[in-house]
Amino acid sequence: MREREEENIIIPESHPRAKSLKYRELLVHGYNEGVVATAGLIAHGRGEAFDYLLGEKTHDFAREAMEAAVALFLVSKHPVFSVNGNVAALVAKEYVELAKKVNAKLEVNLFYRTKRRERAIERVLLAAGAGEVLGVDEKYRAELPEIEHLRRYVDKRGILIADTVFVPLEDGDRTMALRKMGKNVVTIDLNPLSRTAQWANITIVDNIVRAVPGMIRIVEKMRNKPKEELLEILKNYDNNDILRRAFEKIKENIEEWASKGLIIEEVKKYPKFNLKFL
Ligand code: ATP
Ligand code: MG
Repeated sequence: MREREEENIIIPESHPRAKSLKYRELLVHGYNEGVVATAGLIAHGRGEAFDYLLGEKTHDFAREAMEAAVALFLVSKHPVFSVNGNVAALVAKEYVELAKKVNAKLEVNLFYRTKRRERAIERVLLAAGAGEVLGVDEKYRAELPEIEHLRRYVDKRGILIADTVFVPLEDGDRTMALRKMGKNVVTIDLNPLSRTAQWANITIVDNIVRAVPGMIRIVEKMRNKPKEELLEILKNYDNNDILRRAFEKIKENIEEWASKGLIIEEVKKYPKFNLKFL
């Protein structure tokens, strides 16, 4: 039997990385349940590294992108929210709630597609309150052009005919294909260098665990705005500028850390070495 001791670890609230450890536990749990792919665990680590550099908080450029994303979902005729293992493990409940609030369909869309994982994710979404889950019934299978086998499948009732697709934590090849097909592509990606971050129309450079709850709050503020006002938000939105500001923030943070070296003051109280043994 596999060791499952990770699932029993209790993380004290006072731990400086308590939140980050909690999300790791959710992913490990998702992995043990067949929801998260092995590569999903690695992808999370890449995201965390960028979250660290961003100071693990939501910045103004992310909030602006979240507002534009919500405006786009609200004006779209056929928005579809894509779900992969990491999304399901981290924010299933909030993601389903957001999809409902903007009338979007949910579609399971996997990089490492297996029947077992599709079904496991479908179960998580249904338990989180989803009404209908697309992407799991072969009867409705369609293919994206120019993408390799297994990764190209989409649902005829979902992504294939969508005007706007939400693809958080997505792979670059597929984001590129969707954009080239003329879809409006919204992503959440902590790495502004990834091809997904670069190719999306709207890139929310933030952790999905903060961004999705944030977007739920934004829908509440925006749902009664007239369509013209929502379109105005999109007209004024500039993803190039958003990405530039994300890099700028990382640069600012690194400049501050570089001017210090030792950032944790308390460490300075301790001698450089303990050479008593000499
Ligand atoms: P690309 O294929 O777009 O060039 P990649 O190959 O570096 O990117 P993938 O594993 O294909 O990365 O996609 C996962 C993306 O999701 C990564 O860019 C990673 O930084 C990001 N990511 C992982 N976890 C989170 C999270 N919790 N919140 C936001 N973004 C995340
Ligand atoms: Mg990739």
